[in-house]
Formats: sequence, C-alpha cells, structure tokens
Amino acid sequence: ATPTAIMIGTGLGAKRGILFKNAIALETSAHIDTVVMDKTGTLTKGEPEVTDIVADGLDERELLRLVAAVERLSEHPLADAIVRRSDEAGVPEVPASDFQNVPGHGAIATVDGHRVAVGNRRLMTDQGVDLGELGARRDEFAAGGRTAVMVAVDGRAAGVIALADAARPTSVQAVAALHDAGVEVVMLSGDNQATAERIASQLGIDTVIAEVLPGDKAAKIAELQQAGRKVAMVGDGVNDAPALAQADLGIAIGAGTDVAIETADVVLMRSDPLDVATAMAIGRGTLRKER
Ligand code: ADP
Ligand code: MG
Repeated sequence: ATPTAIMIGTGLGAKRGILFKNAIALETSAHIDTVVMDKTGTLTKGEPEVTDIVADGLDERELLRLVAAVERLSEHPLADAIVRRSDEAGVPEVPASDFQNVPGHGAIATVDGHRVAVGNRRLMTDQGVDLGELGARRDEFAAGGRTAVMVAVDGRAAGVIALADAARPTSVQAVAALHDAGVEVVMLSGDNQATAERIASQLGIDTVIAEVLPGDKAAKIAELQQAGRKVAMVGDGVNDAPALAQADLGIAIGAGTDVAIETADVVLMRSDPLDVATAMAIGRGTLRKER
C-alpha cells in the first residue's frame, strides 16, 4: 500500500481504538481468511460466576470451605469466582498447604489433612477418581454451556461446581460481520468440548478447537497455517502470547495482559470483538486505495 493509504488506514483505526503497530500489520489484515478467537476473556467477559454447587457426601458449605482453601492459592479466574462465592456465603477461611497447580487442568492442595483436588474431568481421571453419578451432573452442566469443575476429597468424587461466563454483548455481531466478509471464525479454548461447542453455537461459530492445553495454542494456529490459511489470532491472556506470535496477525484485546499487548500486531483498546471485523475492513480499504 502507498504511504498515504497506510496513514489513512492507521488514522481510521486509531479513531476507533484499533492500534495497528506497523504498516505490515495493516496490510496483513487485508488478507486474513481465518480468525481464531480465544473463548475466555475474548468472546466472553472473562468474569466467571458460580451458578450451581452439587455436593455429595458432605454439605455444600463444607465443600465450599475445602475448595475455596485450595483456590485461594490459585490465580485462575475460575478460582477467583469460587473464592468469591465462598466469602459471600460467609464460609470461614481455612489454610491449605502443599499446593500444586496443574496448568490447563486444575489445582490440588491439602486442607485439614485431606487432599483436595479441583479441576476438569481430565484431572480427576489422572488422579484415579471414579466420578460416579457426579459425572452425569457434570455432563448436564457442560451441555448447557457451563464450565463444570469437579472436586475430589482424598480421591473420592465429592462435588461439581458449575460456572458461567457471559458472552461479550457484541460477540454474536462480530462473528456475523466476519462471516459476511468471507472470513471463517474458529473458537479456541482450554475448556471442555461440550461447553465450548454450546457457547460457539450460541455465537454462530461452527468450528471449535477445545481442551487445548495452554502450551498448545500456538501449535493449533500453526496447523491451520499449514493447511494454507492466513490466520489472525485474537486473545487476551499471558497464555495466548505464543499463539499471537505464531499467527499471521496477532490481535490483543486491550483489557488483556501486558504480555499479550506487547506480542500483538494489533491492539483493540475498547476490548470489543466487533473491532476485529472493523480492523479487517480497514486493511482491505487501505489496499483498495492503491489501485
Ligand atoms: P481457559 O482456556 O478457559 O482459560 P485453562 O487452560 O486455564 O482454560 O483451563 C482449562 C480447564 O482446566 C478449565 O476450564 C477448568 O476446568 C480447569 N482448571 C484449570 N485451573 C483450574 C482451577 N484453578 N480450578 C478449577 N479448575 C481449573
Ligand atoms: Mg484463557
């Protein structure tokens, strides 16, 4: 594109809080045919809230007491939501020790002499926990688009905690706008397949790559590129930085972490997914002007 076209495109973006870091970022955005969006914090607000608690063999407050003790030591957004719920319910705080973070799966710690594990089904399987009837409850929550976290106490399934993370208000519109522009939209998530699929279908997204471990997101982007796609990745977290770097165009949601913002080629200051479609449109307009 000509320097003038680039100046105009950059200016148009800046007015909308869409910051193209350089001319290449602007030009690349014109050629993107696949946009991969991180679920949590990008398509959703990234502020999960506990909606349901199912306790088995102990009462609900006791379950919350044990789980909150573990989650107080974790920095995961799901952990924050569970601790908040426990505090709101006035459950007394107890200490936990021997904390073990299992990235992409959950957390384990010792509370009152009991080994308490909280996380996804995979964590339970790895810990040799028989889910019993709680497995079916978990599946119901997941089918409804909830993130269902399981709890085991001393290796015995003891509960399910369901959490919901509301979609950002413009996510549906953003997906529709990208589809109208002929761009395929893919949802990428560490959450389980059923939950991710339900949320994707509510947003009009037909391709879902779920249960991706934090370290594997970049490899998923590379696979799409090997299939001949020109890929933009939209994310907000520290976990997303390698995938943003791998993509042809890395787009950071502005409310995200510094690492994501530094790595990205484009920053969306308003954290509005609709600005992804606007960025592509500005890129196309910039190239058109030179003809
Ligand atoms: P996301 O892409 O949604 O941020 P992560 O890779 O961080 O997902 O985690 C994947 C899954 O692992 C979560 O959906 C959850 O089921 C489980 N998990 C991870 N950390 C925790 C935790 N501290 N407490 C409960 N569950 C967790
Ligand atoms: Mg995430």
